Amino acid sequence: MALMRALQKRSAGPGLELCEVDVPKIGPNQVLVKIEVAAICGTDLHIYNWDTWSANRLHPPVIIGHEFAGRIVQVGKNVTGLTEGMLVTAEGHFTCGRCYYCRTGQGHICDDVKILGVDTDGIFAEYAVIDAGNVWPLPEGFDPGVGAVHDPLGNAFHAASAHCLLGKSVIVTGCGPIGLFCIAIARHSGAKLIIASDTNEYRRNLARQVGADYVVNGGDEELETVVREATGIGADVLLEMSGSSRALRSGLRALRKGGAASLLGIFSDDVSIDLDAVIFKQLTLYGINGRRMFDTWYQMKAALEGGLDIRPVITHKFKLEEYAEAMELMNSGRCGKVLLIP
Ligand SMILES: [Zn+2]
Ligand SMILES: [Zn+2]
Repeated sequence: MALMRALQKRSAGPGLELCEVDVPKIGPNQVLVKIEVAAICGTDLHIYNWDTWSANRLHPPVIIGHEFAGRIVQVGKNVTGLTEGMLVTAEGHFTCGRCYYCRTGQGHICDDVKILGVDTDGIFAEYAVIDAGNVWPLPEGFDPGVGAVHDPLGNAFHAASAHCLLGKSVIVTGCGPIGLFCIAIARHSGAKLIIASDTNEYRRNLARQVGADYVVNGGDEELETVVREATGIGADVLLEMSGSSRALRSGLRALRKGGAASLLGIFSDDVSIDLDAVIFKQLTLYGINGRRMFDTWYQMKAALEGGLDIRPVITHKFKLEEYAEAMELMNSGRCGKVLLIP
């Protein structure tokens, strides 16, 4: 039996272990992928730090990680259209195909979803098994770093695609990787004005690099004041990526009447907002979960082929064995997207 190196959560508690494990076997409807580039998600950091969510959700031992680009090295016997040697990434949510939502084209809110690297063994390893239906082929010669971040980029596309951004003023609260992707997407989509906020200076600099016109320190500048001065009546659209209730409240205050918000940042506590303001300003709030399968993926492909450049968001690269350093860098917030090379 061939062995491979993998980053595993071996037992309940903080940290990860670099282990030697068997190369996984594929089923008839799956492919085996040799991972070229992995990317670390906020979810992986939660699992590394072992927060309440992780403790309730994960059943160790499990190999974590779900964002990758790699090459198919083995194809299950029922799989058609995929061949050995193809460069691919994948949708990390495995849907049941049977529930109401799956059967009405809403697999992104499937009742029985399994998440790669959370509910099944993931891709922080030399090889990983992926359901063929989830595989997303990448063009030959495609930058594997950009390939590896399709999953979070898809979250940003899903959040942005709730609105027409052409000629609009857009607020992005929270400039982690998904917020930064949102800024780049808004710029690419023809937004008139982009105002970003984050308390982290490193990330505010990245926000400028990917196209924000105004960058506000959510900590001490008042977002609403800046937005009012720049727009007169308030912004058209809010993309809330921070999971900070303070950012959400100031973002909603900074919207014009009839404005709309996509909410993707996850709030760890109960949030109170001024619902009277939502009512009297006639705001629309969209909850955003995952990526539409596969509408969001086709949008992403079209935008990347049309010149959307998200490479400035990818700031660091580490070897698999340097995972602890990579995770601590992410905990510090002094980074954009961080890659791991198996
Ligand atoms: Zn992710
Ligand atoms: Zn389902």
